[in-house]
Amino acid sequence: MSHVSNEEIRRLGSGEAGEIEAEGLAQHALSCEPCRALIAGFVEDIAPRAKREGSLKALVELIRVERDKALELLITRAEWSSFRELTRKAQRDRVILSRACHSSTFLDVLLAEMRSADSWNESEFLANLALLVVQGMDEKRCPAALKNDLLAGIWTELANVRRISSEWQHAAVALRKSEQYLAEGTGNPLPRARMLSVTASLRAEQGHLSEALALLKQCRQIYQASRDWSQVARTLVQMAYFLMDTEPDRGLTFLNQASPLIPVEDAALRWLAATLRTEGLIEIKQIDQALMAFQWAESLRVFQTRPDARLRSTFTPARLLEALGYTQEAERLFEEVISGDLHLENYHTAFLDLLYLFGFHIRAGSTEKAIAICQRALAQLDLLELGHDQLRAVWTQLRDATGRKALTSQSLDMARSYLRVHWKHPAAKTPVLTAGTS
Ligand SMILES: [Zn+2]
Repeated sequence: MSHVSNEEIRRLGSGEAGEIEAEGLAQHALSCEPCRALIAGFVEDIAPRAKREGSLKALVELIRVERDKALELLITRAEWSSFRELTRKAQRDRVILSRACHSSTFLDVLLAEMRSADSWNESEFLANLALLVVQGMDEKRCPAALKNDLLAGIWTELANVRRISSEWQHAAVALRKSEQYLAEGTGNPLPRARMLSVTASLRAEQGHLSEALALLKQCRQIYQASRDWSQVARTLVQMAYFLMDTEPDRGLTFLNQASPLIPVEDAALRWLAATLRTEGLIEIKQIDQALMAFQWAESLRVFQTRPDARLRSTFTPARLLEALGYTQEAERLFEEVISGDLHLENYHTAFLDLLYLFGFHIRAGSTEKAIAICQRALAQLDLLELGHDQLRAVWTQLRDATGRKALTSQSLDMARSYLRVHWKHPAAKTPVLTAGTS
């Protein structure tokens, strides 16, 4: 059926539409959001005529429920705004005492704030408030098993925040908490899928790639069984992300599976998938295809909200220029990305990019420039008081091995995986990046 016209809405509102016409229009609007929004403007005119059980009555009720929910969200946002001005202790007291805070809307607002908080400390505090919200919920409206699902969800999101801050031990503790609550929960598999996904990201960052992929496989099965195709797509993109450096062919296969499942409105995920595809095609040396994939990614970048999106989409063309033999132009863009990362205080990424630029100079045969990158990395570590002694030892090894021409492509791969995993936490022993003796 086509959308409801303005004339039909007018007839419905004024009572000119007969019963058959009104029921037909209502049936459409029940499953069509834009038409329902139009009719919402007349819902109080229609209500008196919607007495008989049927589509029109269901439509009036649905519009009222949706309106109440939207209003509740606005009031909660206002409540949250007044909250922010209180001291932390007063915020905690209010969450414990005020029944208005014990709603799922308030919980959602808190979780969203927690994910976008400026500091780890702030996220921890907000997670604590969220736990209090759930504990305060009325047992009749929210039975214990459901509470446990919600508590597990909070611990999962907190684990994710901790993971992003490289607080691995604390992230693992939060994930264990989440698992404990899930064991006493309703058995709904979806909170478990989210927990598995965060665990996978943590394990991948710690260098346990095959374990991470096995977890994501479980996660994907859960979403498939629930016919949640957008989450299946997200999981496949996550799998591709883990694999793109080491097994680009497999990564690209996952992206191909994900592509048709990514919802049109999820431009952020489409951008990420297109950027990963470009990276993968560069890895397997399909440069012409990579150029096209990059064009596609760029057309989606305006919808990106990630603060580092511009830098990531400068790094990729730098790699493309390198592959096409435009060495000077590539170098200029790599330098732009590194200073941008340092400016945004994305230090881990900045040092991974410095290492990439180091490899770039090695590939171009510019030994002196490569040595200068190592000196720069060491100076930056001192200047910013970052990293640990082992990290310095790795950069020193790279510098000295370059001077002796003792580097292989394997040394570069080893340095890269070391830097990925051990940026914050040193390894059990310092890796040896070169074969032979000095
Ligand atoms: Zn419609």
